[in-house]
Amino acid sequence: MSAVNEEKSVTCIVCPRGCRIKVSIKGGEIIRISGNLCKRGADYARSEVTQPMRVLTTTVRLEDGHLLPVKTARPIPKELLFEAVRELSGVRVKGPIEIGQVVYSNVAGTGVDVVATRSWN
Ligand code: SF4
Repeated sequence: MSAVNEEKSVTCIVCPRGCRIKVSIKGGEIIRISGNLCKRGADYARSEVTQPMRVLTTTVRLEDGHLLPVKTARPIPKELLFEAVRELSGVRVKGPIEIGQVVYSNVAGTGVDVVATRSWN
């Protein structure tokens, strides 16, 4: 059996069971994933090790000065979270806004929309 170069531990956040998953890496390749109780956990651990993704929740400024809570419609690469926040800090949104409405597109060049998480009249 080939030697493992590195082992990373990942806590799965896909469901409340919170499985501790071990990812074994050799020569930059994932050779084994263990500790997960289902395939979703293996997929999450693989993504977390190769390109961690997160849903960004933040606020954007409305034209009247109030803050509107928003989130990305899908997870974006974790490494782009700060860039996305910086980009959104310059955004001004005109009301009224419906919950789920797209208020900004292609945040940080990810192709992902930013949507309102509450309505504003
Ligand atoms: S591996 Fe499966 S069962 Fe375990 S926390 Fe992740 S989603 Fe839940």
